[in-house]
Amino acid sequence: MSDSKTVSENTGENKTPANFIHAMIEEDIRNGKNGGRVHTRFPPEPNGYLHIGHAKSICLNFGTALKYNGKCNLRFDDTNPVKEDVEYVDSIRYDVHWLGFDWEGREFYASDYFPMLYEFAEKLILKGKAYVCDLTAEQIAEQKGTPTRPGQESPYRNRTPEENLDLFRRMKAGEFPDGSRVLRAKIDMASPNMHMRDPILYRIIHTEHHRTGNQWCIYPMYDFAHGQSDSIEGITHSICTLEFEVHRPLYDWCIRELEIFAPQQIEFARLNVTYTVMSKRKLLELVKNNYVSGWDDPRMPTISGLRRRGYTPESIRNFSDLVGVAKRENVIDVGLLEFCIREDLNKKAQRVMGVLNPVKLIIDNYPEGLTEEMPAVNNPEDPEAGTRKVPFTRELYIEREDFMEDPPSKFFRLAPGREVRLKYAYIIKCESVVKDPVSGEITEIHCTYDPETLSGRPESNRKVKGTLHWVSAAHAVEAEIRLYDRLFMSEDPEDVPEGEDYKKNLNPDSLKVIRGYVEPFAANTKPLDKFQFERLGYFCADSDTTAAKPVFNRTVALKDSWAKAKS
Ligand code: ATP
Ligand code: MG
Repeated sequence: MSDSKTVSENTGENKTPANFIHAMIEEDIRNGKNGGRVHTRFPPEPNGYLHIGHAKSICLNFGTALKYNGKCNLRFDDTNPVKEDVEYVDSIRYDVHWLGFDWEGREFYASDYFPMLYEFAEKLILKGKAYVCDLTAEQIAEQKGTPTRPGQESPYRNRTPEENLDLFRRMKAGEFPDGSRVLRAKIDMASPNMHMRDPILYRIIHTEHHRTGNQWCIYPMYDFAHGQSDSIEGITHSICTLEFEVHRPLYDWCIRELEIFAPQQIEFARLNVTYTVMSKRKLLELVKNNYVSGWDDPRMPTISGLRRRGYTPESIRNFSDLVGVAKRENVIDVGLLEFCIREDLNKKAQRVMGVLNPVKLIIDNYPEGLTEEMPAVNNPEDPEAGTRKVPFTRELYIEREDFMEDPPSKFFRLAPGREVRLKYAYIIKCESVVKDPVSGEITEIHCTYDPETLSGRPESNRKVKGTLHWVSAAHAVEAEIRLYDRLFMSEDPEDVPEGEDYKKNLNPDSLKVIRGYVEPFAANTKPLDKFQFERLGYFCADSDTTAAKPVFNRTVALKDSWAKAKS
């Protein structure tokens, strides 16, 4: 993928459709349906932040439009004033752009269509296809029947169009309280499809809407807003998730009865990811009850959380391509997402040295007060990334785990009497250790170095088994390091016994905050700058710039430690 801000698709090359949706679209293009036009939309409800499942839908809708030289609209499906908010609208706009897609000014709101939808409703009433029903929500539910038992017809079903029109207009005028009346489609109370049993089209809600204010006190249901909005915008292929398959007959019924442009609804399986919950209701609960620090907590599966964790748009788009488009429910291993970010950051991330669990290492025969500037490779995968200078001095920090006093034979790092190379610098030999007299903990490792072994010199060919990363104690910058792990401990967090809650599967160790040292270069970072801390993993400068010290979020370890733990 190129570095340009928005994604462009290379068409022409690929002859076989990538998935069943593209196969359907190509069939439509061959048949000249809609004049060969392809127009999709991404229709979020602004009642939460977008998550990785939405990212899949965004990539599919915008990607399809790009592939077939079509268009994709951004449409806010804002028909429920109770749960929606402008904060969410703003975050959604930001996230779609960040992923690399552009709606080219076609930003629409279902609420913009309220006047038209209202006209549509009157049209159905006049056709005798909709009626005002005075039953309560409970009564309507009771009379709905079951999939095997027909429902009962409402006693208000046979009101005349005139009476319905009068009542509906008075509903709109605000004469009736919430819940007292609804507008229902008059279809078939015996239909095997429950959604066709006189579904509710409009309900009374005396609540201010984030865009239309107090202009309306009746609001259309999803089923009376979505298809009509698609039709108004001339959407040709209305791609949605599988749970709407059973709504499709109603979608088509409304379009047919209203005699308006007919988009084609196509369903695919929603993306599910292991160790993750994706329902907005649950994500909102985690935020509201402070299980996480916010929608953009780096442990959240939200796009904003992934961004703060260090994920790149390219890695998410690549993930979305790799998971494909399925017709049946399935669950994708979160390891695939981690694979995608590792692969992308391996190509792009600046390498630096950082020590997360430091112990002091003193090179006794190295001149005091001397600083050598060691050239270090910025990214071995990218020759253009160049080199930088890393200061080397007599006193360093190395990783505590890289030293063992009494090592097993397979331990190739530092131990008494053993030699290792310090990356970009010299071969050193451990001579002795100093311990805290009380705790017994090692406080200093004393070494000698061989001046003839400077890395990169022809005469420095001497081989040792281990190479360690390090930072100069005098130059290192103290940083807060946030080691994130999976938010949930179980592969399917929502799979809990009756009466229990998915929150019991929260991983108590999903965040560990430590203090570490990074080389000076890494301290001059901008928010979201990405690094590979050599031998440790990928880290991302946190987006919150108010902290006193630099803060790095661990994006992902270098290797999949969970896969190892499982095998
Ligand atoms: P909720 O979690 O409240 O049920 P939702 O996840 O369906 O809502 P919407 O804002 O309605 O959220 O979703 C916008 C679009 O994204 C819809 O077309 C929806 O089908 C799609 N979408 C939502 N979740 C996923 C997912 N996990 N995988 C693929 N597409 C998704
Ligand atoms: Mg939805």
